[in-house]
Amino acid sequence: MTNVPFLDLKRHERPIRTQIRKAIQTVLDHGSYILGPEVRSFEQAFGEYCGVPHALGVSSGSSALRLALLASGIQPGDEVITTPLTFIATTESITQAGGKVVFADIDPETLTLSPTAVEKALSLKTKAILPVHLYGQTCDMDGLMDVAKAHNLTVIEDAAQAHGALYKGRKVGSLGHAACFSFFPTKNLGGYGDGGMVVTSDKAIADRVTLLRNHGRTEHYRHAVEGYNERLDTLQAAVLEVKLKSLDRWNKERGRLAALYIKQLKGLGLSLPTTRAQSTHVYHLFTIRSRERDRLREQLTNENIGCAVHYPEPLHLQEAYRYLNHKPGDFPHAERAAQEVLSLPLFPGLKTAEALRVANAVKEFFKK
Ligand SMILES: *Cc1c(COP(=O)(O)O)cnc(C)c1O
Repeated sequence: MTNVPFLDLKRHERPIRTQIRKAIQTVLDHGSYILGPEVRSFEQAFGEYCGVPHALGVSSGSSALRLALLASGIQPGDEVITTPLTFIATTESITQAGGKVVFADIDPETLTLSPTAVEKALSLKTKAILPVHLYGQTCDMDGLMDVAKAHNLTVIEDAAQAHGALYKGRKVGSLGHAACFSFFPTKNLGGYGDGGMVVTSDKAIADRVTLLRNHGRTEHYRHAVEGYNERLDTLQAAVLEVKLKSLDRWNKERGRLAALYIKQLKGLGLSLPTTRAQSTHVYHLFTIRSRERDRLREQLTNENIGCAVHYPEPLHLQEAYRYLNHKPGDFPHAERAAQEVLSLPLFPGLKTAEALRVANAVKEFFKK
């Protein structure tokens, strides 16, 4: 049997490759590789897409998170509450901005940060909440913003997996005080290398990120503060500006494939992704849950079907966070999810026949 890849990035961009080549050629012709005109125009387009007035291109999703935290005024020792079920970039940014990582458990239904758990994790040092729109599913933003308002906290959305998702009619990125996107090639909107964006309605945060991403520069060889070299490349911006026009179409295709999987996999006794009420899911990943995860994964791999685990070990139990002295059982919902989650192939360009082949393989497994 032919193999079904977990992800094939070449497929979705094939139809727009000529436009991408042209955009790259334009940059080569003008030669303004750092903060060239495409950076500004992509920022404008992406800010408009998210429904926020300020958008700043940066070098990655990781730098977007760190710069957003720094720009929001995190001071050494300030605590930032986040989920243990995420990619480590989320928490690295907290430590690197001088803050202290504080974990709170997830809601077992949506696998996103639980506002009730956040409330229990509050201390006098809590300054911010860093929720992750995991797998393309939105967080309980009303719940989180209520806690934030009551305790005067900043909310920074980690939207690296949720470009274009809607929460109660509003775009992800416009819900917290600032939001951070990644344009890593595999994301719903991805470049040909690393890239990221901070979006915000808060002009002070925007101005600070503008300074920090570019060596604290106010004009050539004038520096208001020490900053970083973390700008978005002109070439990446040019590519991303072209690709942004297809994002909604690609997300729709992800939704169609997800609906197909859900229809095919109902009633097998495994849990399927749910979508929060009044929200959309943009299926960065299509992640199912089963107690038989490891055996299912092995079976699919044997049948040349790509699959992956996001994430096999929750962050609070990773060696990198041993210093926080957590133990198994501290965040039971995240721990259980880590043992049960399995992401199936889902990307724009995945053929219906391929998705059906994946679904049939999963069905066969559960029939036995
Ligand atoms: C990809 C990702 C990041 C980091 O983005 P990079 O561009 O790779 O630095 C941060 N948070 C989450 C949830 C991600 O999936």
